[in-house]
Amino acid sequence: MYNLETLKAKVNALAETKTVVKDSEGYYQPSTEETGIGTALVRLLPPLREEEFPVVQIYNHAFQGPSGSWFVDNCPTTLNLSCPVCEANSALWNGPNKKLASLRKRKMYYISNVLVVLDAKQPENEGKVLLFKYGVTIMDKIRVRLFWNDGQVVTESAR
Ligand SMILES: [Zn+2]
Repeated sequence: MYNLETLKAKVNALAETKTVVKDSEGYYQPSTEETGIGTALVRLLPPLREEEFPVVQIYNHAFQGPSGSWFVDNCPTTLNLSCPVCEANSALWNGPNKKLASLRKRKMYYISNVLVVLDAKQPENEGKVLLFKYGVTIMDKIRVRLFWNDGQVVTESAR
């Protein structure tokens, strides 16, 4: 059982841990080379007992507004709710500015629990279970491998 001093010590220890590379939302990201390419070997983990599926799919908007500040937020369409950004974007797409609509469109991501097996640049991450957020390119690779032995032809999804 935690007492307040134990909790404080644990919170301070967590705050001082800088060994795990995470993006601004707290997800694990492999360390990257100068080219921007990250390399790590991770194992996707099965769902937790109370979860149905080992992957969560979300939509997200991230774009710069006219003042230069960023709008970054999950898109309500993830939960089958209407989204004011998507609605405004639809009007842009069907009207005056397809380029701006393209910059503001929602993007699909996936989130999974992963076991970091190899992270050569930061071996201290190896053996840790972390949340990993990834895009369509990685999900396509998972799909291809998932159906590999079934003899099914799986093509990459259209973007
Ligand atoms: Zn949206």
